[in-house]
Amino acid sequence: MEPTREQVRSAPKVLLHDHLDGGLRPATILELAEEIGHRLPTHESAEALGDWFAESADSGSLVRYLETFDHTVAVMQTGAALNRVARECVEDLAADGVVYAEVRYAPEQHVEQGLTLDEVVAAVQEGFEAGTAAAAEAGRPIVVRQLVTAMRHQARSMEIAELAVAWRDRGVAGFDIAGAEAGYPPTRHLDAFEYLQRENSHFTIHAGEAFGLPSIWQAIQWCGADRLGHGVRIVDDITVHDDGTVELGRLASYVRDQRIPLEMCPASNVQTGAATSIAEHPIGLLTKLRFRVTVNTDNRLMSRTSMTDEMTALVGAFGYDLTDLRWFTINAMKSAFLPFDERLAIIDDVIKPGYAALQG
Ligand SMILES: [Zn+2]
Repeated sequence: MEPTREQVRSAPKVLLHDHLDGGLRPATILELAEEIGHRLPTHESAEALGDWFAESADSGSLVRYLETFDHTVAVMQTGAALNRVARECVEDLAADGVVYAEVRYAPEQHVEQGLTLDEVVAAVQEGFEAGTAAAAEAGRPIVVRQLVTAMRHQARSMEIAELAVAWRDRGVAGFDIAGAEAGYPPTRHLDAFEYLQRENSHFTIHAGEAFGLPSIWQAIQWCGADRLGHGVRIVDDITVHDDGTVELGRLASYVRDQRIPLEMCPASNVQTGAATSIAEHPIGLLTKLRFRVTVNTDNRLMSRTSMTDEMTALVGAFGYDLTDLRWFTINAMKSAFLPFDERLAIIDDVIKPGYAALQG
């Protein structure tokens, strides 16, 4: 039976792909912009600003979509602002029923006012800890870790990778590269990935979102990514014949055989044109073929989404039931960059009992 929206909301959920600078509350952007005199496209109301973000991001172009971040990043240039945004992020995720989240951002984008990379990570970590404490007090316990991102068109990936390793025991679970894919292949940052591998560290790579199979192939086979950010274009290596039989190419087989997690973000993909609709999103086929599929929000502000919204949309499009949602959630928790024993504890003590209670 298809779960109701309220059941989806109360179900334990795990989020691996969420951008800190893509999830601000519109009211917070207004206030922070006012404090520093940053000019926004509209100062009319939080609602109007929220509309502006969603509509600009809806243009169907990844490049225009990325432009909306100029405004969120502009208001996240002080320790206090980063701290607040990080705390509110955790509170919002916990209120949505998320029990474990890895939230990413690019520290190098928050140093315009003189913060060091280290100070940026520290401010975000303080905010996460404050948010975690507030959520626990509100009866919605959540565990949150940072992923530090390097921008693929810049040249600071080695520094950011070192930052990830320096903070690995203080709240940073891993590393990522993000930004426009075309023209900036992941192999540009090979030294950073090789460093992380030597350090026994974890990383994911945005690959196969707007760009095709070569990007996914490089991310896995050259760079050694543990997970794929999006990875939707892996369907280009899968042929569905008229009689319903399915054929996997070498790369798609490898991804499925190795259980490489796909951090799928349906609403975001529809906005950027990486998928035509939720119903036609490759997540349906990839789930049927039992790839290691996970469901994520990407940018809650720009896509006006939440984990509850994403899962509810999938229920509507594919008829998923609670068993399917539990599968996505356990897939995600198994794929987290958290130590194995901690992952297992969340699966056994939080996720399984949470779904069992809902399934009566
Ligand atoms: Zn992303």
